[in-house]
Amino acid sequence: MMEEESKWIHCPVCRTKTRTKVYEDTVLVKFPLYCQKCKKEYLIDVVKLKMVFSDEPDA
Ligand SMILES: [Zn+2]
Repeated sequence: MMEEESKWIHCPVCRTKTRTKVYEDTVLVKFPLYCQKCKKEYLIDVVKLKMVFSDEPDA
């Protein structure tokens, strides 16, 4: 049975499930992930279902 490998991204700070879903081959770079609990956006990278904070250069 073919099953798409996907999962919901969780907030990197409070671990709440967000409304953003990724597949195993999804690549996000500097993606503004919005957390409804924190009411904040976090810039993240996601590669192969692994999430890290994006490096934010000094503005
Ligand atoms: Zn959060």
